[in-house]
Amino acid sequence: MRSSSVDFYILQALKKEQSHLTSHEVFERIQGQLPAVNPSTVYRALERLVKGSKVSISDMGTGAEVYELAEGETHHHLVCQNCGKIITLHHEEVDGFFQKLENDKNFKILTNHLVLFGICEECQNKSSDPEK
Ligand SMILES: [Zn+2]
Ligand SMILES: [Zn+2]
Repeated sequence: MRSSSVDFYILQALKKEQSHLTSHEVFERIQGQLPAVNPSTVYRALERLVKGSKVSISDMGTGAEVYELAEGETHHHLVCQNCGKIITLHHEEVDGFFQKLENDKNFKILTNHLVLFGICEECQNKSSDPEK
């Protein structure tokens, strides 16, 4: 009973945020609602939600894994390693690539939140002077 209400608050927090939160950020938001909650309860609840596919977990290169509501539209990201900018891709933009891999390799892709690292346009323009 107690743990399911934590689940509820986590899902609410992620829904409200509509973006990625680290486990610590999730905890901070839950603490606002349930002042007596302890971090390990929140972290365990997050793990459970990930296992139950209610929440997705990904490495956005920020040093801490981030959580996001798994429901709603499937999307992916391009992350600039230089400035940390995140570009969100609709699933249709990578769907063709996924389908090609599935057909060619006879491999069923389960990844529902692809994160690709690189350098954004702005940063490419900035660094086009010295070095090379
Ligand atoms: Zn995302
Ligand atoms: Zn950048």
